[in-house]
Amino acid sequence: MKTIIIKFGGSSLADPGKIRRAAGMVAAARRRGFSPVAVVSAPADATDDLLALAAQAGGQRLSPRETDALLASGEQISAALLALALQAEGRKAVSLTGAQAGIRTDDRFSAAAVRAVDARRLRRELAAGRIPVVAGFQGSTGGGDVTTLGRGGSDFTAVALARALGAALCEFRTDVKGIYTAHPAIVPEARPIKALTYAEVVALSALGTEVRQLGAIAYAAKHSIPLHLRSSFHDEPGTLINAGGGRPGVSCLSLRKAPDGALVSAVGRELSRAHAARGLAAAGPCAALLRSAAGAFTLRVPAERGEAALKALHAAFFGASGPLT
Ligand code: ASP
Ligand code: MG
Repeated sequence: MKTIIIKFGGSSLADPGKIRRAAGMVAAARRRGFSPVAVVSAPADATDDLLALAAQAGGQRLSPRETDALLASGEQISAALLALALQAEGRKAVSLTGAQAGIRTDDRFSAAAVRAVDARRLRRELAAGRIPVVAGFQGSTGGGDVTTLGRGGSDFTAVALARALGAALCEFRTDVKGIYTAHPAIVPEARPIKALTYAEVVALSALGTEVRQLGAIAYAAKHSIPLHLRSSFHDEPGTLINAGGGRPGVSCLSLRKAPDGALVSAVGRELSRAHAARGLAAAGPCAALLRSAAGAFTLRVPAERGEAALKALHAAFFGASGPLT
């Protein structure tokens, strides 16, 4: 049976109903013949709430060790609740802390780096037919102290386990359906993107659109772990991220504010001067080309023209005539 990692973001685990739905998705993977391992974030705002509590109890100068011990509890709540929900569905499931899942880190509390994954316990649980539900974002030092991996770190837990278990796929289930050709709130015609390369996602992050934790993407790229970003509310496919191939061209647009205007960027494979020129022409008379490279180009427009320029580029690259290739 192929192992699949299914990682749930905190908003997908915000209440008992959502946790039961997540359990349904893990069980469905099992029915499709996979051997699923779930990785969970803390429910919704739990991590921020715990940080606020820490400040209320401990003031300004918090012990990093105790703060990590506190923060790790958020993911443990999710793990135990998801295991309970799976058991209620008649599945055998076992929740595991990062330490129990064999995630060994250095001792830099709050930003610990994973040094090794000892997957023996996980393999035993899988061999016994149980679905492991692992608390993300945490590990333990050689001395047994609890550490956390930095904000968004449960993404890293997911890819680290994918590698350690030789998983066929690492799925990220969140409240969005995947990556779109542009922000759908600004460009209603924006379309979900079926596939992107690791490099394109790294380029998007460099432009301030962080799709997943950057360290997790880099690790997945290094070890060729295919990622699938998809919704935890629907079963439609989302965006696959892998080493790719396919046609060169613009795949995704982004908009961000800058002190001297708005920046509209395009990300894609093997972008040429022709792509940048076409973007510049679409953006209108006051646009300037700031940067152009093989993986992305950026235009600056007056602040009040930002959204209009994004829409115009979207029409130019993804309009009825299809993407420029
Ligand atoms: N709960 C942690 C955070 O909010 C870790 C994670 O979600 O990946 O940053
Ligand atoms: Mg979180």
